[in-house]
Amino acid sequence: MTRDPDRFLGEEVDQLVAAELDWKLRVLGGPSSPWCTVDGKKVLMFCSNNYLGLSNHPKLKEAAIEAIRTHGVGSGSVRPIAGTMDLHVELEERLARFKGAEASLVYQSGFATNSGLIPQLVGEGDLVISDALNHGSIVDGVRLSRAERSVYKHCDMDDLARLLDEAEHHAPNYRRILIISDGVFSMDGDIAPLDRIAALGAEHGAMVYVDDAHGEGVLGDGGRGIVSHFHLGRDRVQVEMGTFSKAFGVVGGHISGSKNLRRFAFNKSRTWLLSGSHPPAVAAACIAAVDVLEHEPEHVERLWRHTRRFKTAMRDLGFDTGQSETPITPVIVGESSKARRMSERLFELGVFALPIVFPMVAKDRARIRTIMNAALSEEDVTFAIGAFEKAGRELALI
Ligand code: PMP
Repeated sequence: MTRDPDRFLGEEVDQLVAAELDWKLRVLGGPSSPWCTVDGKKVLMFCSNNYLGLSNHPKLKEAAIEAIRTHGVGSGSVRPIAGTMDLHVELEERLARFKGAEASLVYQSGFATNSGLIPQLVGEGDLVISDALNHGSIVDGVRLSRAERSVYKHCDMDDLARLLDEAEHHAPNYRRILIISDGVFSMDGDIAPLDRIAALGAEHGAMVYVDDAHGEGVLGDGGRGIVSHFHLGRDRVQVEMGTFSKAFGVVGGHISGSKNLRRFAFNKSRTWLLSGSHPPAVAAACIAAVDVLEHEPEHVERLWRHTRRFKTAMRDLGFDTGQSETPITPVIVGESSKARRMSERLFELGVFALPIVFPMVAKDRARIRTIMNAALSEEDVTFAIGAFEKAGRELALI
């Protein structure tokens, strides 16, 4: 047998291409702004996670530039050796205050947070119970742990209660039980019933971990996130996880909770211990993002105003927008091929929104996933609605 080490790479990708499951990368020629250049064409950005437009906020940009002047471009090390700068510490203190938590810890990314922390929280002799639609970084974190795994039906609290009862009656010797859920689910824009998850956790002595990547900067008092949205006591949710890569407009993961959580997490998470820390510009821009959220509530207010207007207009036009309760609005079109055609037509009309197709969603529930952005003007939202109406009529969706 001859082995060509490069051949399988091409063959496997060719299979993806044949099944239309490969990614075609779109290239932004400039910033992620409301009107941006994608593959050389000027379009309205309608699918970024930059919910509040902070990736282009002058205060964040200035903070990053100033940090380069004062601290250089790299941190020089991993955090535990020589890579903890005063800016990292300041960011963690500011974030904890913003969240109303005892302490916070910043990781390099949200993915590094979930994949680094979850396998430390649970191991052999433990049980982790996870929502069926949790993000891939949670799935990978759970896989890396040696804990037993159960999956409950998406947001189904009877199913979660059943699994907790089973764990108590049939296998009462678990050392620890961890319940883990996304806060806002990124495909449908629905919100996890965290109040009920937290109540079940307290009843069964289980730890509750929420990934609030899409809830921060969006839900709760001034965008403080899902724990604030449900007015939950800090003792009810042991790990509130999030990312600076979405509404905060920069990059980096984080957790908030007790001082013990912070100490535990940084002593044990391999992704945190063994990977270089954020450049100073990133830490400084994140501090500025927290500052903007604290002092400029208008961004979150605009996000919701645009969201309400867009959802109402789309429903009035006759589109199926699913169960979304957040600025993620799926426009469900049915078959995958239709979603692809719709996305292409929208792009021609000047709106950039990607199709989400099988196997990411059910075969007959392919959709255009739209994500609202506070930086859009009222006219921009009108423009987007007009493009959806035109493309929707052409494709006989409405
Ligand atoms: N959790 C969820 C729910 C997410 O949507 C994402 C980003 N797609 C992540 C975690 C990972 O965050 P990051 O981009 O900071 O790695």
